[in-house]
Amino acid sequence: MQPQPIKGNLNVEKLEEVIRETGVENIPFIRMEASTNLIGGQPFSIQNMREVRRVADAYGLRIVLDASLLGENAYLVIQREPEFAEATMEEVISIITGLADIVYFSARKLNSSRGGGICTDSHDIYLEMEALVPLYEGFLTYGGISVREMEAMAVGLYETLDETMICQSPEYIRYLVNSLAAKGVPVVTPPGVLGAHVDAMHICDHIPQTQYPAGSFGAAFFLISGVRGMERGSVSNQRDENGNETYADMELLRLAIPRRVFTLSQIKYVEDRLVWLNANRRLIGGLRFVYEPPVLRFFMGGLEPVSDWPQKLAAKFREDFGDSL
Ligand SMILES: *Cc1c(COP(=O)(O)O)cnc(C)c1O
Repeated sequence: MQPQPIKGNLNVEKLEEVIRETGVENIPFIRMEASTNLIGGQPFSIQNMREVRRVADAYGLRIVLDASLLGENAYLVIQREPEFAEATMEEVISIITGLADIVYFSARKLNSSRGGGICTDSHDIYLEMEALVPLYEGFLTYGGISVREMEAMAVGLYETLDETMICQSPEYIRYLVNSLAAKGVPVVTPPGVLGAHVDAMHICDHIPQTQYPAGSFGAAFFLISGVRGMERGSVSNQRDENGNETYADMELLRLAIPRRVFTLSQIKYVEDRLVWLNANRRLIGGLRFVYEPPVLRFFMGGLEPVSDWPQKLAAKFREDFGDSL
């Protein structure tokens, strides 16, 4: 396979520019995300992280790594970064975590268990964090998470080193992204991790951003498939300090494909319904907020259609499929 571009890389020149403009004293840390969710689950390369490390060292800044999908990011490093084509998952993961000062993760994603963790191999950083534990958690010796949960985490971490286990999610994503692209459904390429990301700005170019194309597309897709995607566009953006909308550069619908959850026939069903919806995209209309919490509105907010488009979409669906799902 040809090496494919790695789109989650941090732009090191821009990073230095931002540091110089903002002043190093105003920057608490540099954060890397494995993988970068808001641009379609794209991985970063080890080469890129080494360059970020050099910048961090030059300015005395720490690197904080969000390792929630580190296993899948490492898998794509092996697939796409020629220097690591022969490396093991253990080697790649320990190089990446070794380049960070603090590593945190959602255990749901990294190791299929509950909770999460914050790790460091620096005693000084450990002591800084220790002081914060009573403030947010309870006294350090209270015990924290249960032993059962820690054991489940440990099993999950070992599984995360198993390439045959980790490849499942990225391989399903690759299948879905490539087959959608081949059938003319605009989707973020190359396939990354986390999920397939459908380009709703493109599909719903008849819906203005004021009416949330990605949110609308997600609602329409749920209606005609029962598949629940996640809006990653302007609904996921926050209003500015004056209460004005800030519109996202991309209007994406994320179809997350976690490891060991779906069968290939389920993925093919998603593909089939997306192809139908893309062909009928002009029937999709916009949305407006009816309930908008001030922070993270995309989690608990409520929206309604701006017209009777859902009824029209459902009518077309019945025309083509009858009453069968
Ligand atoms: C999912 C995700 C999170 C949040 O995970 P929770 O399980 O909700 O805590 C954080 N960072 C990244 C990169 C993720 O993909």
